[in-house]
Amino acid sequence: MQTRSLSGKTALVTGSTSGIGLGIARSLAAAGANIIFNGFGEAAEIHSICAAAAQYFEVKTSYHGADMSKPEQIAAMMNAAKEEFGGVDILVNNAGIQHVAAIEDFPVEKWDAIIAINLSSAFHTSRLALPFMREKNWGRIINLASVHGLVASAHKSAYVAAKHGLIGLTKTTALETASTGITCNAICPGFVLTPLVQKQVDARAEKEGISMEEAKKALLSEKQPSGEFVTPEQLGELAVFFCSPAANQIRGVAWNMDGGWVAQ
Ligand code: NAD
Repeated sequence: MQTRSLSGKTALVTGSTSGIGLGIARSLAAAGANIIFNGFGEAAEIHSICAAAAQYFEVKTSYHGADMSKPEQIAAMMNAAKEEFGGVDILVNNAGIQHVAAIEDFPVEKWDAIIAINLSSAFHTSRLALPFMREKNWGRIINLASVHGLVASAHKSAYVAAKHGLIGLTKTTALETASTGITCNAICPGFVLTPLVQKQVDARAEKEGISMEEAKKALLSEKQPSGEFVTPEQLGELAVFFCSPAANQIRGVAWNMDGGWVAQ
């Protein structure tokens, strides 16, 4: 049974209008946390995501549309969080994009966007969230890295570089807060069937002239020994665990949930 262990806390989950971020936001709301949603999408759909979470989980929700590649918009979002909720207790740096191409063909603007959104945004949100967490001597920073923060795959240079960097930032943040009630950890999922991975499934099905189901199986069988996708709900439960007192001494880890991917 879910307890309301995070009642009275406020969680900001970047990139929570879809996929893993939305799953984590819902799990944190189920544990009683107020949620600040962020990410792109249709205004009406975003409104209904916020309203549904508020009603179903009986928490306060709000939304900020900051583009996570823009430091000044990130600062505006953090200010809005301070004004509306007093500050952010739980920061989940989740927004991310992917692009797949060989290094010599990799568009320079895609490289810059991936480094900005998947890595630098976590630096900006963290630097702006930490003063409030230090004041309260409690906080949780959870960085959504990836198995690609631990091992590489061909044709994902920017993503692999950003995710390795994010694990480095996680360790540094954990050390700088080690003697406080603030912890910082990374979660490293294997394949999760979200829009980000669906694009790779579609590309594979088209390239190899196979069905969607065959393309999913092919993708999993190359990397993920369980042969099953990780789910946003499973990742959400891990995030709730990181927020619990049992996790007070988990600091600076890169915790993979990957169906055995990096055990190979
Ligand atoms: P997704 O495409 O479903 O969701 C990405 C979210 O980020 C969306 O809400 C989108 O609107 C938001 N976003 C994208 N660019 C943004 C920007 N500039 N500013 C603000 N928001 C922005 O993807 P997902 O699979 O749920 O990925 C979430 C995170 O998990 C990413 O960091 C991704 O790298 C990581 N991850 C995903 C997988 C996977 O298999 N899906 C595996 C490992 C790690």
